[in-house]
Amino acid sequence: MVIAGPCSVESCGQLEAVVLQLKDDSRIAMIRCGVWKPRTRPGGFEGLGTKALRWIAELKGRYAQLHFCCEVARPEHVEQVLACGAVDAVWIGARTTVNPFLVGELAEALRGSAMPVLVKNPVTPDVELWVGAIERLRNAGLDDVAAVHRGFETFDNRGYRNNPLWEIPIELKRRMPELMLLCDPSHIGGQRQLVADLSQHALDLHYDGLMVECHADPDAALTDGPQQLTPEALMQMLDGLRVRRHDVSGSDELRRLREQLDGIDYQLLDLLGQRMRIAARIGEIKHGLNMPYFQPQRWQQVLERQLENAARMGLDEAFVRELMEKIHAESLRQQNE
Ligand code: PEP
Ligand code: MN
Repeated sequence: MVIAGPCSVESCGQLEAVVLQLKDDSRIAMIRCGVWKPRTRPGGFEGLGTKALRWIAELKGRYAQLHFCCEVARPEHVEQVLACGAVDAVWIGARTTVNPFLVGELAEALRGSAMPVLVKNPVTPDVELWVGAIERLRNAGLDDVAAVHRGFETFDNRGYRNNPLWEIPIELKRRMPELMLLCDPSHIGGQRQLVADLSQHALDLHYDGLMVECHADPDAALTDGPQQLTPEALMQMLDGLRVRRHDVSGSDELRRLREQLDGIDYQLLDLLGQRMRIAARIGEIKHGLNMPYFQPQRWQQVLERQLENAARMGLDEAFVRELMEKIHAESLRQQNE
């Protein structure tokens, strides 16, 4: 399932230009187009609201096969979308999913409408808020709810506009296996050259589809120009994506390698358990000596040594740094207990 379209509706002509190029591609299930735009700072283009809804209705009249979705962030938006009758689905943006009050109000405004709702992940890396938003909508009787992974705002976004933190959508899918999960590679990447790799990664992780920003003239776009693809680039990317088979049990070799991995995973946990028990004992000794638990110099040495080891062992430095930071944090917690 692919949803594609411009970040924002800028004019009837701009929307029609992109729609004309997407409408005959059977892979595109729906056109996305922002009608109200949440902007971090005031003074930017904030969407054209009712005017944009009128243009959507106009294009829907002209090209009956099209489906449209837009963002709603306030109950008034929901009322206008329902009144206009031309919008087939709505999405809840990342800055709204963080706010349970607002999600509750949107759910109430949508109650009884049977409107499909796409829930973007919250801006903060918190799976509970994401789950909570989905539950609030379902509790309001909305059955057609899907999730959209658009990345997270973190201390270090690791070169992306929004840190993907793939483990969070994987955890969401583990908890809600029947939930449709889409990836929005445009808002994760923030740059159009990252969109294809992110999309492939999402497909490899069993995602059900993509929501991609697409504009006939991205460099002239009023919002998110650098991450929008032209319709030609989008189609080329879709042609190149490999949909892998998730339904096969695999070869003998695959089974053997997986058994090896399971054994290694067991050993990893066993070693971590040993490490934590030693850390707890060190904590008792430090306590007896009235020493602080955290010793910055010692931590610096441990980390540097492990980064050298990582380089020698051909392991990714950023991965090992993150792993050691997590292990160290857990060690400190153990010492402090
Ligand atoms: C968008 O899809 O244009 C948008 C504003 O998304 P997000 O809520 O993910 O930032
Ligand atoms: Mn956008």
